Amino acid sequence: MDKVLAFSKKLLKEVIDKNSIVVDATAGNGNDTLFLAKTSAKKVYAFDIQQLAIENTTNLIKEAELADKCEIILDSHFEFDKYINEKIRAVVFNLGYLPNADHEITTLAETTLATIKKFLLHLEVGGRIIIVVYWGHENGKVEKEALLTELQNLDQKEAEVLIYQFINQKNNAPFIIAIEKRKEISCEK
Ligand code: SAM
Repeated sequence: MDKVLAFSKKLLKEVIDKNSIVVDATAGNGNDTLFLAKTSAKKVYAFDIQQLAIENTTNLIKEAELADKCEIILDSHFEFDKYINEKIRAVVFNLGYLPNADHEITTLAETTLATIKKFLLHLEVGGRIIIVVYWGHENGKVEKEALLTELQNLDQKEAEVLIYQFINQKNNAPFIIAIEKRKEISCEK
């Protein structure tokens, strides 16, 4: 069976092609941005609210000589529609805090949920949002519960929502919530 991170990459890769606009919503140290940049995607946008994350991500993609197809943005992922005007094919979130930095700066339930809902409006039909949920810390527990409660209520005609989790793993092991858009969604919701 695929480990959680390997499965998240498989889910992303399956829907990305040379015309795809893709987003790393939580750039951090840049590992997902680098992964997305190595796919055939046309353009990669990456967001983070910490300068350190922007620097680390920029350095990583520069070293890989993939900076040309990437835009690394110091802003909240919630503001993505200020920077991206095209339909989006795939989005990845790695929730939680930046390793080796301030553990008090984490993704937060309210912002994460509002951003996911906004991404759903801007996603192509067939596009995916992959969320890797790290819930060992206090904000993470709140965020996990909020996501599971809200996302199970998405209309199944509009979006499929999958959980991929090793339920016998100890120590709050991370798991995946994957959303695939099935049809256009009305903005009024
Ligand atoms: N995927 C990253 C990697 O490969 O290194 C790890 C991401 S880390 C677990 C979570 C990141 O989300 C942190 O760097 C944090 O600063 C960032 N973050 C928290 N709230 C955010 C927001 N509203 N918008 C964008 N990034 C945010």
